[in-house]
Amino acid sequence: MKQPIVIAIDGTSASGKSTNARLVARALGFVYVDTGAMYRTLSWYCLKKGVDVHNPRAVASACRRWKTSLECVDQRVRLLVDGYYPEQEIRSEETSAAVSHVAAVPKVREWMKRTQRECVKFGNLVMEGRDIGTNVFPETDHKFYLDACLHERTKRRHADGIKEDLASRDHRDSQRATAPLMIALGAKVINNSQMTSAQTSGLIIEEMRRRLGLS
Ligand code: C5P
Repeated sequence: MKQPIVIAIDGTSASGKSTNARLVARALGFVYVDTGAMYRTLSWYCLKKGVDVHNPRAVASACRRWKTSLECVDQRVRLLVDGYYPEQEIRSEETSAAVSHVAAVPKVREWMKRTQRECVKFGNLVMEGRDIGTNVFPETDHKFYLDACLHERTKRRHADGIKEDLASRDHRDSQRATAPLMIALGAKVINNSQMTSAQTSGLIIEEMRRRLGLS
């Protein structure tokens, strides 16, 4: 059987990963996977259960015990907890502030990697996150890294009505010991500070169509 194709899109917070990954997935007919949403789901779950997100052992234990399932709806993968998909809750300020602590726990990252690799059962993937090209699917030939200047990224979050200290989250994500945010070897780097999402996704779509012999 032919191996599913995985397009890895990594990058800093608010660099346009989600919007562009969704546009690329739609254009190519691939399944979209937002791995940040999975970490956010664990962050939300810990807060809800009163687990101290600064205690790695407690977080690892919660991750060992939670009851989850994966489903694919409208070409998007969702992680459910106890059969529930907390779509709105995972975008709250509290969840955002806690998520990079939860994501730094090695046992959590092992669990996430295993679960994220399982997603190929749904077909060809566009998977976005921080460590997809370096750690989750290091074997894929299709790696992209998005970035934009901090000023521009902060402006984008404000436009979405979200106030957040992006610099601190990026710092924690790139300084952690396990699978930190970094540019994967061979990744195509796109700085989209001056670009629209149509332009950014257009670059990736065009590149992928060429590679896959679709243009
Ligand atoms: O992409 P998003 O901002 O939703 O990601 C939330 C957080 O999840 C990141 O700041 C990071 O701490 C964590 N994350 C990660 N590895 C990924 C995706 C997200 O550590 N592949």
